Amino acid sequence: MANFVRILLRFDVKFSLKVVINKQKNKVIFVEANSDFVDVLISFLTLPLGAAVRVLKKHYGDKEAPVFGSLTSLYNGLANLDNSHFWTEGCKEVLLNPMGSFAEECRKLKLDISDTQPTEYFTCEHPNCGRAWFTSVYYDTAICYCGRPMTRKAVGITKEFAPAVFTINTASFIISDDLQIFPNSTDLIQTLINLGIANMDVGELRTVTFGFNEIMDLLMVSLLSRTPLSDLILYKRHVTYVDGLARLKFEPGISFKGKVKEATSNSNEMIILKFMVQKSTNKLLFARAGEDFLDFLCSLLAIPFGAVRYLLVGKTCLKAIDNLYVSIVDHVDDNHLATPAMKNRLMKAKLPHGYISENQILPLTGESFPYTYDTSPDLQKFSSVKFVKGQGKYIRGPTMYNITDDLTVTPFCMASMFLALKEQNIPLSDVQELELEIRLEEVM
Ligand SMILES: [Zn+2]
Repeated sequence: MANFVRILLRFDVKFSLKVVINKQKNKVIFVEANSDFVDVLISFLTLPLGAAVRVLKKHYGDKEAPVFGSLTSLYNGLANLDNSHFWTEGCKEVLLNPMGSFAEECRKLKLDISDTQPTEYFTCEHPNCGRAWFTSVYYDTAICYCGRPMTRKAVGITKEFAPAVFTINTASFIISDDLQIFPNSTDLIQTLINLGIANMDVGELRTVTFGFNEIMDLLMVSLLSRTPLSDLILYKRHVTYVDGLARLKFEPGISFKGKVKEATSNSNEMIILKFMVQKSTNKLLFARAGEDFLDFLCSLLAIPFGAVRYLLVGKTCLKAIDNLYVSIVDHVDDNHLATPAMKNRLMKAKLPHGYISENQILPLTGESFPYTYDTSPDLQKFSSVKFVKGQGKYIRGPTMYNITDDLTVTPFCMASMFLALKEQNIPLSDVQELELEIRLEEVM
């Protein structure tokens, strides 16, 4: 009930923004906003990729939600896989509703677009098990020390909330059209120069109100445009439609080679991917992979935008998201952030506990458990004891999966493969299976 009220209240939230517009160029020069609004912008960085797919699908519906890269088809393919492909029912749930490691902070935002549910805790299914103090935040994915699944909802656990969200709540900020954030108290002239403003005469002041719908539009436009605020405030232009679908335009010619940060940490890890190739034309027919590659694809959904930016060192194709990240690194000093550790936490975002395996190819780290919460009068320890098959394991196997170019995953079916070859008039003698070792570089 409390959550239902929270969802209804989202539509009452309004942010009042002062917008300075260049009338000649019909362009937003900057927006002045308080910390509540800037916290919502920063929360975009903490949003796991899978959560972005989910909230945009929910808000715009399947037809109008933007399709970004292959993530949408990956998400839909995994959602369509039968529950039997996953280790537990809980695994699939965890995967399709990835939690951010800033979930508690996001629940405190004036407007939480990630739709984060209150954290639930599960304990041993047996009511008289002596180890009921061990709890897991994931339903049915951990087993108790007595061997039973942890599926019983633990009641009465409260967690201390973070005192503030991302920025200090008395601060105000200047935001450029491409989402660079500057604290309002810093050198005014320098800020204007940073924003490329030479001539003050062209500016016109307007007051604009943003509510839930505008914030969702802003999230979508930040993924699609280099000038999200102008697009939204002046042109009401939300999306570029191609084939009836909103698609991300990728910058051509970006090479990730040699630009991966800290790429050495786990670089010996690799996965085998099998490709079926037509020998005569050298054409890729499809790829086949087992559960280890599927687990890797699954883990992509849990990575927040901030961590993607960190891994790819600014080569994310998402200029506005890049700028938000750079603002945290370069423009917003510790005095304007809620806690001294905040800058580092936002810059090197960790994945929530349990989402990535210990031998993850990507140089990412998961949060550690157990957390200790002071639930007075007693100090209790909560931990995700052990996962059914270890952390970051979603797919049961041993099934092979068919993976298309856009990362749509379906269970591999020999009969349909024969049918597909027959339809294309490709004799089996013309088909060759190649193996590719996937390491960090290919992953990027
Ligand atoms: Zn037990």
